[in-house]
Amino acid sequence: MSEYFLRQEDLPRFLQSLMAAVPVVGPVAKKNHFVFQKLSSPEELRLDYDVSLLPPKKAIFPQTQRLLDFSPNGPKSCIAPREQVLFGVHFYDIKAIDMLDHLFSENVADQNYLANRHATTIVGSSIQKISDRAFWGSVGKNTQPKGHDAFLTKISGGFHFKALTEKGEKLTSHGQFSKASDAQSKEAKQVNEEILGKCPQRLQHSAEQIAQKVRASFKNEKLWDELAEKCFSCGSCNIACSTCYCFDVQDKWNLDQKSGHRTRTWDACLTEDFAKVSLGAGGATENFREKRSHRFRHRVMRKTAYLNDKLGGPACVGCGRCSEGCVPDIADPVKIINKIMES
Ligand code: SF4
Ligand code: SF4
Repeated sequence: MSEYFLRQEDLPRFLQSLMAAVPVVGPVAKKNHFVFQKLSSPEELRLDYDVSLLPPKKAIFPQTQRLLDFSPNGPKSCIAPREQVLFGVHFYDIKAIDMLDHLFSENVADQNYLANRHATTIVGSSIQKISDRAFWGSVGKNTQPKGHDAFLTKISGGFHFKALTEKGEKLTSHGQFSKASDAQSKEAKQVNEEILGKCPQRLQHSAEQIAQKVRASFKNEKLWDELAEKCFSCGSCNIACSTCYCFDVQDKWNLDQKSGHRTRTWDACLTEDFAKVSLGAGGATENFREKRSHRFRHRVMRKTAYLNDKLGGPACVGCGRCSEGCVPDIADPVKIINKIMES
């Protein structure tokens, strides 16, 4: 693990050289928001973004992904690893990718995810501007981000660059890096520590207290009815989430009715049909989470309790995207948890 310094004015040339070697995906401005997309010039990169509309997981786990082609000759895998550098990822989104790494690797490993993941080099970046709805400073404090290859921190005169893996170390061959001084390393550490205390929203209880109370509230139907009263089941809170990983698999048949392809698309457990299953011939169906309050409850259980043992903490990283994306403004985990804790 080595620590370097890159002068502010040398960042564009570093990016230019990197982009010539491999696609670089990073935060860029889109009207008054930010999105992660492939950079077409170094000037597009906006390391001063607050939060992106969709999480950077989409570079590894795309919204729609072709899984396989099928024909009378059998299935043919469509795995085509995306060689890329995912640049400028905030620490909470690195933690979210760490969770996906774990969830997509357990039991039957998801090769479609893992192929992209292994081909991706992740460069984190310090947070320069904070989203109004963020609460990453007080959630999952016991888990540290670990899946990145390097981390870039804005300090006086430029950037502190910490290489954490061999892949991260190799990136330095593209730029005018010098060894970081002790003072520069110290400043970077301080910048990243101080930002944690600047989040506008905070959870008031530990992850264990929250998980216990949320589980104990499972049968409080009145509470869940009240919380979900204004929900119109759009699923935006799921789609915007850094840690949601459900998907729907569909087969599309060609006109010959013998061949076609299979794709998966992100799915959302708040939508009405998410838990609807076919009971076979005749078109009968059963929806085992028909009530919107039950779907709302399910999301809260998943984020605060069900996955905690597996992930070592809550399945929420406090990005605040769900709060921003919810039109009736009822999806904010801080407000939901506060209400449950007071109930
Ligand atoms: S974004 Fe809001 S309205 Fe839409 S499903 Fe989620 S909680 Fe319901
Ligand atoms: S539940 Fe909301 S705050 Fe938590 S990770 Fe998902 S989108 Fe971010």
